[in-house]
Amino acid sequence: MTILTARAHAKVNLHLGVGDAREDGYHELVTVFQSLSLHDDLEVELLDQSTAEGSIVRSLSVTGLGAPAVPTTPDNLVWKAIDMATELHRSQGGAPLPMIDIRLRKGIPTAGGMAGGSADAAAALRVMGQMASISTADLLPLAARLGSDVPFTLLGGTMLGTGRGEQLVPLLSRGTYHWALALNSAGLSTPKVFHTLDDMRAARPDMARAGDIKELSAALLSGDPHEVAKYLANDLQAPALSLLPQLRRTLNAGETAGALAGVVSGSGPTVAFLCESAEQAVDVADYVLDTGVATSVAVAEGPAGGAELVG
Ligand code: ATP
Repeated sequence: MTILTARAHAKVNLHLGVGDAREDGYHELVTVFQSLSLHDDLEVELLDQSTAEGSIVRSLSVTGLGAPAVPTTPDNLVWKAIDMATELHRSQGGAPLPMIDIRLRKGIPTAGGMAGGSADAAAALRVMGQMASISTADLLPLAARLGSDVPFTLLGGTMLGTGRGEQLVPLLSRGTYHWALALNSAGLSTPKVFHTLDDMRAARPDMARAGDIKELSAALLSGDPHEVAKYLANDLQAPALSLLPQLRRTLNAGETAGALAGVVSGSGPTVAFLCESAEQAVDVADYVLDTGVATSVAVAEGPAGGAELVG
């Protein structure tokens, strides 16, 4: 029996600058991503039967954190990624591929602003890269079609993302950063958070913006988490707080517990606290959980790698 296992890493945005809405409804982003040790695992069992037509996915099961909220149908980004890569393989005259059973173990919160679904899609692309000999260069365009965060989660590390976040340049970063993550089961819809930001800016055109990434880039080079903490910024934090005001209490609790800084991750509702050590991250996570301002907590370190085959 052949089983391929791929690891999907979560991300945090150290900086998320959101431009004005474009004609097509998308917003231009300037973002600095860091991949985290927090991960999902994707186990793919290659069956004896192969097929030259239709989906190669026979079944998809999901267990772990927030599993009931994750589809087990072709809507799952993992399934979509497999089908897209299969289509590419067949269009290039590739041999029939084996059917597969997929088991996804979630460790990344769903709809938490940590790119869990995107990372799973990236892990599925890595599996297809192995099964159908598709290079990273050929996987990247598929990743961009699957979602704005998929290219970053494929590559990992620390990167500047522009466009919709899919145009990537590596950023130099020294050291390891320790995070306490406050998860919230409430969930926030990413499009709703962007619309709320547009409404807030229409009402208050002088609203503060995340600005450029010069200071953050220099801080990342220094490797000093105290410096990096000064420049964490997220334009989606204000709309996320307006949609879920209790997140303010979460931010306050982490800072009271001694975190260097807290920031809403992506479109939220996860709040990420940068800490000066792994021990402090555990203390902050414990305090936030005890105070009752998070549904659950996790600790993680970054930068981690991108989606990768393991074992
Ligand atoms: P981002 O940070 O990229 O905005 P997110 O972390 O907020 O993403 P996801 O966890 O990626 O959100 O999931 C958003 C929605 O996508 C879920 O509510 C779920 O219905 C759907 N979805 C599809 N595939 C997956 C998957 N493999 N894991 C989790 N959710 C998935």
